[in-house]
Amino acid sequence: MIAGYLCCVLENVLILCYHDLVLFKYVRSVVIKVLVPVKRVIDYNVKVRVNADNSGVETANVKMSMNPFDEIAVEEAVRLKEAGKVSEVVVVSIGVDKVEDVLRTALAMGADRSILLSCEEEIQPLAAAKLLQKLVEEESPELVILGKQAIDDDSNQTGQMLAGLLGWGQGTFASKVELVDGGVNVTREVDAGLSTVHLKLPAVVTTDLRLNEPRYVALPNIMKARAKPLEKKSAAEYGVDIAPRLQTQRVDSPPVRQAGIKVNNVDELIDKLRNEAKVI
Ligand code: AMP
Repeated sequence: MIAGYLCCVLENVLILCYHDLVLFKYVRSVVIKVLVPVKRVIDYNVKVRVNADNSGVETANVKMSMNPFDEIAVEEAVRLKEAGKVSEVVVVSIGVDKVEDVLRTALAMGADRSILLSCEEEIQPLAAAKLLQKLVEEESPELVILGKQAIDDDSNQTGQMLAGLLGWGQGTFASKVELVDGGVNVTREVDAGLSTVHLKLPAVVTTDLRLNEPRYVALPNIMKARAKPLEKKSAAEYGVDIAPRLQTQRVDSPPVRQAGIKVNNVDELIDKLRNEAKVI
């Protein structure tokens, strides 16, 4: 600092002042684009039922919604945009045409545009990761934020496989995401407490439950979202081998829990634990 002159850097803004007078102000344009893959799954409030031939779960006439971890991913991307750290939030979903409704929800939350990779076949995590890799090559985002897992298959694989296919760094199970110069700090909950990893951009991040609380989407925003772009492409265009690699053998409901009993005193409790449950 030279007498009377002050130069300061605040986030994306460089300011040069002489006493109270601003001599120079430079606002660096933010160019970070974020891609958020969102999956349409059975709503988490629905009591899932196994189908008659035990090949899967009933999906006909069942309420579907955005995977909850993906809602957290959209919320985080939108918050980064609102904080001026991200220039564009693009959401993508792979599946049948009905996935359009989760894309509309993401647009209503604040995403800028959406892409539907249309496909009738079952999409397993490896196929999703391969298609997302192609889309990343086309869209060139600096950051991809996915849910840590889809609550229908509970695979927890797509983000990791996408990072592997792209050769990018990955920060999984994020409970805090901070964009810092040229990179991203991802805080993760581990057994011993919190661990923070620094990734260079471009990078892949997957979200955990405590990252944020997604906003309530107000009706006017749902209406406004209708005017936002929704581009439909055929997944087949990418020439990717999406054939399933995993075969489900059988799906069963969890065993019905036995009703509890009331004991009259502690001695009876200890007796039952020792002689019936045989746990002490
Ligand atoms: P999974 O590996 O299946 O547990 O999914 C992890 C994450 O990958 C999800 O939370 C989504 O962000 C993304 N993902 C998986 N399948 C799809 C899909 N069909 N369309 C869009 N995103 C997907």
